[in-house]
Amino acid sequence: MHLPETNRRRLLTLAGGMAIFAGLTGTRVWAQPAFDSDPFALGVASGDPWPDGFVIWTRLAPKPLEEHGGMPMVDVAVKWEVAEDEAFAKIVRNGEAVARPELGHSVHVEIAGLQSRRPYFYRFTVGDARSRTGMAKTAPVAGSAPERVRFAVAGCQNWENGYYTAYRHLSREADLDAVFHYGDYIYESKANTNAAKPPVRPHAGGEIYSLDDYRRRYAQYRTDTDLQAAHAAVAFITSFDDHEIDNNWASAYDQDNTPPEIFALRKASAMQAWYENSPVRLAQFPTPGGVNAYRRLDYGSLVRMHVLDTRSYRDKQPCRATNLPGCRPTEDANTTIMGKVQEAWLDDGLANGATWNLLAQQVLVMPLDSRNPGAAQPDYSDDNWNGYAPARQRLVRSIMERRLTNVVIATGDAHETFVGNVPVRDEAPDGPVAAAEFLAASISSGGDGLTGHAKQDAWQVHNPNLKLLNSQRGYQVHDITAKQWLTDVRVMDKVTVPNGAISTLTRFVVTPDKPGLTKA
Ligand code: FE
Ligand code: CA
Repeated sequence: MHLPETNRRRLLTLAGGMAIFAGLTGTRVWAQPAFDSDPFALGVASGDPWPDGFVIWTRLAPKPLEEHGGMPMVDVAVKWEVAEDEAFAKIVRNGEAVARPELGHSVHVEIAGLQSRRPYFYRFTVGDARSRTGMAKTAPVAGSAPERVRFAVAGCQNWENGYYTAYRHLSREADLDAVFHYGDYIYESKANTNAAKPPVRPHAGGEIYSLDDYRRRYAQYRTDTDLQAAHAAVAFITSFDDHEIDNNWASAYDQDNTPPEIFALRKASAMQAWYENSPVRLAQFPTPGGVNAYRRLDYGSLVRMHVLDTRSYRDKQPCRATNLPGCRPTEDANTTIMGKVQEAWLDDGLANGATWNLLAQQVLVMPLDSRNPGAAQPDYSDDNWNGYAPARQRLVRSIMERRLTNVVIATGDAHETFVGNVPVRDEAPDGPVAAAEFLAASISSGGDGLTGHAKQDAWQVHNPNLKLLNSQRGYQVHDITAKQWLTDVRVMDKVTVPNGAISTLTRFVVTPDKPGLTKA
């Protein structure tokens, strides 16, 4: 596996001291658990496929919104099974994990020793309660050349803004290998009580700060049956963006000028809850200092996916808020959005023979002048790579020095679809291209959205590298072969009412021998 050295070292440290994962100690065990409502009310999930396995996840919460999810504060044994068939006639792995109160009664099991590139089925049992069955596919064997890989990209799922019908559609996508989740899995804001503009469905409670607050927010989101269907259908490769902690946070800083020592406590609670509620590996186990979230996943020699963390190590935004009128990109040549260590890790990892390199990350990379129509002066968001232009230039240099023509970037955060090219030079947006970028809209954030975008024409005047701007909700599906990369942009007609319909807005093509988009 391609673990960064820091992750590998942490993993060994954790594995050495992992008595907590070793089994029940007998001092505070619920010997015969029994429930009067479904302990698997939050569903099941799988994540981070490797050629020989993946993570399976659940979290016991018979009463999701009640204190401790309705669980007693004791250890509970949870049986798990992995089978080759949906009827569990051929069980290939099974065992027992401990759901502990310290980890919100979540269960993470790293399954290994499976065959590559095939589907497996998994389920959990506690007392006489059994979970639904989930499905996950292992990755192709290292070095092999799979004919085709299909990833979906999704995220930004504000509960209050709409229903997750897009996830129901995603759960029915044919032959997905995995879903990259770019973050904003939850939103931290208080329940919207504006009677004039009520939310589609309200958050439970106020703005979230404590570990129990974050746990309850995840529990509320995870009660959604469409979200549960997506998790049960396909493995997620989970990252995080800002709203898992606080809007527009940057390393040690939040947007409210909270002293970093105090924000660090909130961040630690939020990242623990992120771990508890995400199907991620032990390498992403939270520590008081944060989480190592950047990592690589290989799909044979066809795709190398570099999952980035653009929040934890970035400099504070130059204007300290997004879209401040007149905000200019920083001229500080040392500014960073990934941090030095991750930047070097990515640069090293781009030296490879894979057919495609996928940068799976959170915020817009391409230069984008987002001035209002008619405005004389350019405008840049400082919360995405536009706020860190020298860091973007270093990324481009890294791609160019390695002569890579096969880099595709998957992005989220903007709640609108942006498809375009990252130019080699910021000043020449219609000049030579370094990479194609696909920013997926949102599952629900922002509510229904418009067909098309009022600013599209105006924005394209200043941004010839931007080929599509659309503000409908939805997700993207990348269908990848050695010959071409096809991206379907799926959009929802409505998310503020149940049972919205999905359709394919358009399809883009990229070929590995030439950087950037080829419109289909
Ligand atoms: Fe968002
Ligand atoms: Ca975001």
